[in-house]
Amino acid sequence: MRSIRIHASRVYDVMIGEGLLQESGRILRDLLPASQAAIVSDDRVFSFYGEQLKRSLEDTGFLTHCFIFPHGEASKNLTVYGQLLNFLSEKKLTRSDCIIALGGGVTGDLAGFAAATFLRGIDYVQVPTSLLAAVDSSVGGKTAVDLPGGKNQAGAFCQPAAVLFDPAVLRTLPIEEYRAGAAEVIKYAVLGNSDFFGSLEQTPIAGQLEDAVSVCVSMKRDLVEKDEYDRGDRMLLNFGHTLGHAAELISGYTLLHGEAVAMGMAHVTRAAERRGICEKGSAARLVRLLKQYELPTEIPYPAELLSAAVLSDKKRSGSTVRLIVPERIGQTVILPVSANEFPGWISGGYEGGLS
Ligand code: MG
Repeated sequence: MRSIRIHASRVYDVMIGEGLLQESGRILRDLLPASQAAIVSDDRVFSFYGEQLKRSLEDTGFLTHCFIFPHGEASKNLTVYGQLLNFLSEKKLTRSDCIIALGGGVTGDLAGFAAATFLRGIDYVQVPTSLLAAVDSSVGGKTAVDLPGGKNQAGAFCQPAAVLFDPAVLRTLPIEEYRAGAAEVIKYAVLGNSDFFGSLEQTPIAGQLEDAVSVCVSMKRDLVEKDEYDRGDRMLLNFGHTLGHAAELISGYTLLHGEAVAMGMAHVTRAAERRGICEKGSAARLVRLLKQYELPTEIPYPAELLSAAVLSDKKRSGSTVRLIVPERIGQTVILPVSANEFPGWISGGYEGGLS
């Protein structure tokens, strides 16, 4: 088993290794004071791994409760969040009990936000079951639900007590979810590790899974330790996300998050190349790698619609959008673009727009 320690406002370990799901009860027994554990999971993931986790927890003396909600981004809303809080209250969880988020990004964000707010904060543990959650959303303490006006608009920073990733769970991951997770893995390579990008060009993620997850988690650790509350360098992790979130919103969340991020990364890289900010050929390399995972690389919405959605997003500060822009593969910068310039800026990102 590998372990990566995160020194944020709370110190915790991200554990990576086959068999961790079965070991979870024993690990958490040593780590937490909890006597009750509320497992939060969607119907699909729970049907695969819920009983196994429950058994492991009960075998080590936890009293468990299961909150199961319909899978999909549409559940990451105030209604389901409210139902979860009421569930925790009915089950009489105390401040020394814990929540276990068993699932992908939606589950982790929802369960984490409930943990951040129930009784003003209780422990929670992330047990990611998707590639995206393993490399990105389960680490770093961002929790949230979506509002009708945009993604993650209600949320809190709240670090988990631990992250337990058992790579065996990816065997049941739907292929499109695996591809969507690949977009976040590729994001890390572009934003700060050209060697890793080269290795992804050579070997599929599935063929280097534990190494790839460790590289991504270590990069995230560095950014979170430097800037836990996302006011500086952590924003680099939003590469592809400013336009990606806008595309997700416009699609009515029918796009998977990773698909939207793939489009966003390709788009912003083409626009940056066109403006001479990014080394020529970078967009083509990025698009080639994204296409290996059959990810979309073109945003199907016009610039005006995208701009309007971006300008309503929370990542705007005043009248400026802080766009994350690659200078080359492995190096990105935060580029402030004024709201006035923004539509022109992104109009350069469409395929065929490259001269
Ligand atoms: Mg993301």
